[in-house]
Amino acid sequence: MSTPLSQERAGILVVDDRPDKHVVYRAILEELGQDLVEATSGEQALKHVLHRDFAVILLDVNMPGLDGLDTAALIRGRKRSAHVPIIFVTADYGDEIRTARGYSLGAVDFMMSPIVPEVLRTKVKVFVDLYLLARQAKRQAEESAALAAERIARDAAERASRQSAFLADASAALSGSLIASATTRALARLAVPFLADVSALTLVEAEGVEPVTELAWTDPEAPSGIATEALQTTAWLGWRHAVERVITSGKLETFTPSHVLSITAGAGSGSPMVLPRGPQITALALVPLIARARTIGVLSLGMGPSERTFDSELLDVATDLAGRAAIALDNAFLYRTLHEQDRRKNEFLAMLSHELRNPLAPITNAAHMLQPNETDPRRITWAKEVISRQVRQLARLVDDLLDVSRITQGKIELKIESIEVSEVVNAAVETARPMLDSQEHALAVVLPAQPLRIKGDFTRLAQVLGNLLNNAAKYTDRNGRIELTVGHEESQIVFRVRDSGIGIPPDALGTIFELFAQVQQTLDRSRGGLGIGLTLVKRLVEMQGGTVAAHSEGYGCGSEFVVRLPEAIDAAPTKTSLTQSKPGGESVDASYRVLVVDDNVDAAESMAMILRLDGYVVQLAFDGEVALDAVRNLAPDAILLDIGLPRMDGFQVAERIRALPSCASTLLVAITGYGQPEDLERSRRAGFDRHIVKPIDPSLLTQMLAEHCRSRTTVNSTENVVPLRKRPAAN
Ligand code: ADP
Repeated sequence: MSTPLSQERAGILVVDDRPDKHVVYRAILEELGQDLVEATSGEQALKHVLHRDFAVILLDVNMPGLDGLDTAALIRGRKRSAHVPIIFVTADYGDEIRTARGYSLGAVDFMMSPIVPEVLRTKVKVFVDLYLLARQAKRQAEESAALAAERIARDAAERASRQSAFLADASAALSGSLIASATTRALARLAVPFLADVSALTLVEAEGVEPVTELAWTDPEAPSGIATEALQTTAWLGWRHAVERVITSGKLETFTPSHVLSITAGAGSGSPMVLPRGPQITALALVPLIARARTIGVLSLGMGPSERTFDSELLDVATDLAGRAAIALDNAFLYRTLHEQDRRKNEFLAMLSHELRNPLAPITNAAHMLQPNETDPRRITWAKEVISRQVRQLARLVDDLLDVSRITQGKIELKIESIEVSEVVNAAVETARPMLDSQEHALAVVLPAQPLRIKGDFTRLAQVLGNLLNNAAKYTDRNGRIELTVGHEESQIVFRVRDSGIGIPPDALGTIFELFAQVQQTLDRSRGGLGIGLTLVKRLVEMQGGTVAAHSEGYGCGSEFVVRLPEAIDAAPTKTSLTQSKPGGESVDASYRVLVVDDNVDAAESMAMILRLDGYVVQLAFDGEVALDAVRNLAPDAILLDIGLPRMDGFQVAERIRALPSCASTLLVAITGYGQPEDLERSRRAGFDRHIVKPIDPSLLTQMLAEHCRSRTTVNSTENVVPLRKRPAAN
């Protein structure tokens, strides 16, 4: 706290070597009511001026040692006392040289001794008053400087608290919705008028978000004082380019009025940046919205009617706001993606139940038909066909599902080799034939005259083309026309599957390859499907280095799917696949014995029935121990062994069978639900000759047994009996 002027006392330094003089000075100056400080030598006087300020110094000229003039010179030499008024007191007024030196040292006066009390008091008082006035002025200046600093600090604190409140409100508004468009609008409105007179939010086109610009500006005529508009395009090319630049760089950009004019190019020559119905913009700042290290949009802030500019403080707040908005928008996008996936998953589960349930009714009916008292061979044949057709359909569904999950987990390994195009086309047509025939479609396959070779995985490629043909058959009304053409373009082999079917609307073309995606179906879902076939097609084609695309002119205009794959440069022979081999029609040797081992009694018995119908002698075992006993007693020619047996699994049983000398040439077949390379390898190591993945195609099974039966007969007839011959591993 500073001392009021009336209470402040000035210092008066009296320097004289004679104590009696000090008594006189004290008597004269006491009534001024100031601090009288006494010194009896020049040295003492110097010490005092070092420690405090004085309003005036009375200095005796004639002193022993350091005289008055030398003392004055030293006083003047010190910064603190350089300007203190000095009154010299001398008895020798006639010494003009000393007087002149005194004035040159900055003396303000010379007084003759003996001094006149009133004169001295008056002169000293003048300096005391001056001193006190100067002190007061200085103190006032200091006080007003402190006041100004305090006001600035208070303003800054108020601004900071306003900004914090704004950002807190903004956070609340932005997190209020998980819908991106609502967040976008909220942000554009939040910025006005706190941060700018005009704001525009441009979102990057990603994750299914439309590139839209939400505009908001202060408008006294609008009910809330703020007008808004969503722009699809903008006339200001320069601005658009600047926004694109900020999206790429992720860095804030500001534009002064002259810059703003220069970026309005495109809206007419030199015209200023004027909003539709809104103000003219004079300053502009573009702030990137960054979430998870990606720029997801740009917040453009413009100044106009308020004539404000963008200082660093405002830009800091804008950057903070953009950061919060980016997180809110990112959350909204993530939420939407999750929501969409969830919706598709639920739809998929509903469809899956439907698709799995569909074949059950005909199977149940057909099973009912196969009662022991049913003797009509036509009805029995019909029932058998229904069951095998429906089981094939179920197996296809399950296979597709398993494939999707394996591909998603990266578990599918392709066997890339050089494939003859016509062979893979034949295999695909064979797969789709039942569907094509049931719909009575006409299929045209157009192959080039020269044989073409392709680099790919035979089975997977046949699956891809089979899927496309199946879809063509499914999405084309009865008696349609389907065409599969193969061509050679540059270094690619191009397959085109074209149909005269229901076609695909343009807006669905981009999504049909996504998992579970289906074009809006009729309520009865008469065409069925799970929406995974095309996902498999796309992934499998891409895994083989190719591409697939869909084309359609729309509803009712048919569709075309185009698969492009790299041509094989070498001419390595293709691997012959099992499906290509012809079914054998040989008669069965009545002494051929088959042991079926499966803990699922129904599965074991139904397989036994099929084999007995073909004329084989069949025995059943429902676990490993019983199977081993049966092997010892029956000495079967072939054993169909389920892997998933209780207690002793199929691999263990196989190893023990192979250890029996009597079983060296027995055909040992693994029956399992697993068909990965590692499963095949495990079967081979356990001693199996064949590995069949469930569900089993009965014709394949009987064909395999017939072949074995025939080879056994051939060996016996040409080489007589070759006991304990080690059977070569299958495949
Ligand atoms: P789905 O099991 O539904 O057939 P897909 O993944 O094979 O699943 O196909 C996805 C969707 O693409 C289908 O539901 C159908 O709407 C559409 N689609 C596929 N192929 C054709 C086609 N040839 N003609 C018309 N639409 C098709």
